[in-house]
Amino acid sequence: MADFTALIRDVPDFPEHGIVFKDIMPLLADADGLRAVVDALADPWRDAPLNAVVGIEARGFLLGTPVAMALGVGFIPIRKAGKLPGPVEQESYGLEYGRDTIEIHADAISTGDHVLVLDDVLATGGTAAAAGALVQRLGASVAGFSFLLELGFLSGRSTLGEAHIERLLLVDAGAES
Ligand code: AMP
Repeated sequence: MADFTALIRDVPDFPEHGIVFKDIMPLLADADGLRAVVDALADPWRDAPLNAVVGIEARGFLLGTPVAMALGVGFIPIRKAGKLPGPVEQESYGLEYGRDTIEIHADAISTGDHVLVLDDVLATGGTAAAAGALVQRLGASVAGFSFLLELGFLSGRSTLGEAHIERLLLVDAGAES
């Protein structure tokens, strides 16, 4: 796959001091980049027996929906608390400071389904792990996780246990999250 690093913009001190935000908007705005990234995210899963792609708010929606189309399955959103009309299942997880809560519609996935969980960035892994817990609570299984970008120095994949993890780009060093 082509190297799309140049289309991912580093924004220092956003949303708060000390964080280098990985802005994928230039990549989404680039027609060739968008098509290639969607194809590359879908490729490892083309033969997998998936029932759905689950995307995490909000950039996981932007990438997850076209990936679901590419794989011939539907898309299911996981949202920040209070956004889905419900009924929902929810999961809270620790952030560097404080906690966050995400939700999924309780009827979104059927028992025994296999789903791919997709997000733009794997940082500490807390968000993806919470998403996986929600999928499992609904009686489904996580076939694997896919990310556009992994911040390897934060060791997020260690929070995902033995799961099958795919990612397109690796940032191996940095002082950011
Ligand atoms: P984490 O739970 O620490 O793995 O954080 C992952 C979630 O936060 C994903 O939904 C990312 O979109 C977002 N995120 C974390 N760190 C960054 C970063 N440096 N740049 C862009 N998004 C980030």
